[in-house]
Amino acid sequence: MKIMVSACLAGENCKYNGGNNRNGKVLQLMAENEVITVCPEQMGGLPTPRVPSEICDGVVVAKDGRIVDTEFRAGAAKCLEIARCEQPDLIVLQSRSPSCGVKQRYDGSFSGVLVEGAGVTARLLIENGFPVVDVEDL
Ligand code: SF4
Repeated sequence: MKIMVSACLAGENCKYNGGNNRNGKVLQLMAENEVITVCPEQMGGLPTPRVPSEICDGVVVAKDGRIVDTEFRAGAAKCLEIARCEQPDLIVLQSRSPSCGVKQRYDGSFSGVLVEGAGVTARLLIENGFPVVDVEDL
């Protein structure tokens, strides 16, 4: 089976704070399957570490007020291109990220409030028919 995963779940230090979201279940999948790792925020040209961002009224904004929507959508488009090329059987993404979140994301107020809805990349992949799951549902 071929699986695409959020790179931070595989232990890559690509999170906004320079850390990762290393996940035992994902590492197990990596041992047993062909895995492609992607970090849409880095692929969109953002540095690591970087200022955290949230989706506010449909636009991705960094906590310092800078609009980073273009970078987020560029990264999402690159992930879609890779998915179309690689045709993964499953895509496993990190929870609650403004890029990778599948079921929930923060509401844009930077106050820790969660709302229903996917991040930019997860949404694009789902809209294009790819089988996307939240890592918490593995
Ligand atoms: S964009 Fe996705 S892969 Fe990159 S650090 Fe955030 S959650 Fe992980």
